[in-house]
Amino acid sequence: MQSKFGLETSTRVCGVCRESQPVYRQVYSGVSFCASCFKKSVEKRVRKTISRYSLLREDDRILVAVSGGKDSLSLLKILAKIEREYPRASLVAVSIDEGIPGYRDEALRLAADMCRRLGVEHRVYAFEDLFGISLSEAMSRGVLGRLGLGACSLCGVWRRKAISLAARELKATVVATAHTLDDIVQTYLMDILRGEFPKAPIGLRREGNGIIPRIAPLRLIPEEEVVLYAYLSRIPFQEIPCPNAQNSQRDLVRTFLAQFESRYPGSLFAALKTIESGIMPREGGLTPCQVCGEPASKAICRACELESQVSSLLAEKGRLLGANIGVDDVQSID
Ligand code: SF4
Repeated sequence: MQSKFGLETSTRVCGVCRESQPVYRQVYSGVSFCASCFKKSVEKRVRKTISRYSLLREDDRILVAVSGGKDSLSLLKILAKIEREYPRASLVAVSIDEGIPGYRDEALRLAADMCRRLGVEHRVYAFEDLFGISLSEAMSRGVLGRLGLGACSLCGVWRRKAISLAARELKATVVATAHTLDDIVQTYLMDILRGEFPKAPIGLRREGNGIIPRIAPLRLIPEEEVVLYAYLSRIPFQEIPCPNAQNSQRDLVRTFLAQFESRYPGSLFAALKTIESGIMPREGGLTPCQVCGEPASKAICRACELESQVSSLLAEKGRLLGANIGVDDVQSID
């Protein structure tokens, strides 16, 4: 008998060790795994992904972006294990505090606990310190509404920028993110639905143009397997989703792809392969942003563009308040 995520309750033996009782049936390959063989299989596939795409070097200083969720904590645990075998490599974990009350605080605590257990340095960077305003404040003060943006649109751009700033400050040579197979196919599909074919493969090491490369060692591991890995490894992770995630574009695409994969196993791998085989390498492209110096596809990067728009709106509000207009009048401009 098989549950929603392929968890097995039958009494057959593990298809790898032929001894223990299986806990998971990998529907797309037909192989059943016991808990121990499943965890080894995930770790082995991450190692193979790193080697197949040359994602890491022996002397890398690796920044791991850790949100406190199952994906990033699983990645951190696996990379910490691998890093111990390479004395010239080092790891630093970075969490971004966007300022989402009731959500991010617990995630940051879980991330800090895990780093302490693994002996990995942990740093936290807050939107408020980097950009002068937290995400919740930008929402409550009506800034997002005025810019016509959803929370994730601002958050996603600033999170990316925050990680880049952290990587420069901490002298990282590579940034590892916990994007899974599902995340990557979702992003490609979102690009396509917006009318743009993906310009570059996600999570593969690309150097040059002053970029600190970003890699995704979980890019060939389906999301449900990362969840199971975290459970079986007894990794405490934040289970509640971000309150802003509902009804986002990604949420719609995620639901569709999960249903499709459940009915037609292997579709996510097929989509990844087909889309990436059609990506044409982009010529040149990136130049330093005129404001922050980070590589950008335009004169001013999107993060700096948003920072400037947000501070203009806040200054406008400040001027109105200074002119003694009532708070209600000010709020009505939102
Ligand atoms: Fe930010 Fe959206 Fe992710 Fe929440 S779901 S952390 S708002 S990008």
